[in-house]
Amino acid sequence: MAQFDKPRENCGVVGVFSPSGEAVSKALLALISLQHRGQEGAGMVASNGTQLKLHKGLGLISSIFTSSVIPTLGQGIFALSHTRYSTAGTLDAVQPFINDGLALAHNGNLTNMNDLAEDLDLDGEILSDTWLALEYICRQEGAQWEEKFRQSIPKLRGAFSFVGLSKDKLYVIRDPWGFRPLVLGRLVDGGWIVASETSALHAVDATFVREVMPSEGLVIDKNGLSTFYFDHRGPLSRCIFEYIYIARPDSRIFGQEVHAIRKRCGKKLFEEAPVDADVVISIPHSGDSAARGYSEASGIPIEEGVFANRYVGRAFIEPLNRRKQTTHLKYGVISSDIVGKRICAIDDSIVRGDASSSFVRLLKEHGAKEVHIRVASPPLKFPCFYGVDFATKEELIANRHTSIPCIKDEIGADSLAYLSYEGLVQAVTNVAVKLNGQAENIFGSAGFCGACFTGKYPVPIETTIPKEDKLQILENYTILPPASL
Ligand code: SF4
Repeated sequence: MAQFDKPRENCGVVGVFSPSGEAVSKALLALISLQHRGQEGAGMVASNGTQLKLHKGLGLISSIFTSSVIPTLGQGIFALSHTRYSTAGTLDAVQPFINDGLALAHNGNLTNMNDLAEDLDLDGEILSDTWLALEYICRQEGAQWEEKFRQSIPKLRGAFSFVGLSKDKLYVIRDPWGFRPLVLGRLVDGGWIVASETSALHAVDATFVREVMPSEGLVIDKNGLSTFYFDHRGPLSRCIFEYIYIARPDSRIFGQEVHAIRKRCGKKLFEEAPVDADVVISIPHSGDSAARGYSEASGIPIEEGVFANRYVGRAFIEPLNRRKQTTHLKYGVISSDIVGKRICAIDDSIVRGDASSSFVRLLKEHGAKEVHIRVASPPLKFPCFYGVDFATKEELIANRHTSIPCIKDEIGADSLAYLSYEGLVQAVTNVAVKLNGQAENIFGSAGFCGACFTGKYPVPIETTIPKEDKLQILENYTILPPASL
């Protein structure tokens, strides 16, 4: 279900080569399995080997790619599809973009847009970082797209898992830091698929082959698959929040099953923050796997607790004065699980905190004796500049308060505890971790980005935010030195 008070901006991307001519249907099915990564717009470009055809729109994938639209894309042997969340909600920013015979879509966010725009001497409107990246690629010298990629990609900074399509070749590129997942699979007709998560491979009966590596490029065409590498290395900075909230629990990303990691987070959370409770419930549904882990470790029975209505839209885009109403629309309390009981409610994360307040209030109004909130990740204190839009820094509840007891008081819970940095990294790596006084380095040491928890950004933030905010960020946050090139 759509969540509220959760990260907003994120994307899913798919590329397909199907020699039997089923690229469009496969790219669509795969994209639907990535709908959780973005619900505000989607697009697809298909090619039969001679011509690119594009369709894109606003809304859910099923409302954009209707039975009358799909045939207009033809019997493609290549297809590229993309789904996104957009705060602006305009069609201008929906991907893919096409320029000079190359279609491009991406998952992530570039952090040096100003530099790229200056390099190109652009002073007109820049539709998005993807649009700018495509313009940058197109302006490079070279007769082949691969040459243009080789020249342009090392200039880009930030998070980017790109899929590009010319009329007869599919191109796949992952940034040097490996922020966003990108997996490669084999289709039964001998073709290939790349996608943000393995859930997309399962949707089309593809076999998982491997992850696309950081700094790796793939070229896929009728002659097969070839790889090339960019001479551009960054510290491995995989987004740890993919495991916490973004990816589907049935997906395997960064080499591990997401559900298993979330369960381990729940288990660690119990070890660090046990509570006397009668029942464990999940704050549906992103807390589901962690709640199971907490219940198994504690021996406290897990119950449904609340029924979540999957057909209510995103409450976080509702006006503030309708939040309470939306909470009641979204959740139905299962009285036999709640009345007179001490509830331990597990959430994956807390962003602004208003959803947590509403949830606690809902349980108490319906007769819960106590409500204890346990969060299966550390406090979110800093914004993300690598493709996930949580909220502004000022909106983050863990930034507004200096202590966890203050956050507990604001949300009205009887107790509140978060998973520690060590607990999260240990759950993800399955290896015991000690801080040794280097708390902010713990995620980087394990090959992950955890900047939204620590404020330690692995790639410098050069643009994408207003100048005043940028200056404030540079004053307040730790920016790691530029990656060695
Ligand atoms: Fe992921 Fe947080 Fe890093 Fe953004 S800042 S890439 S959400 S870990």
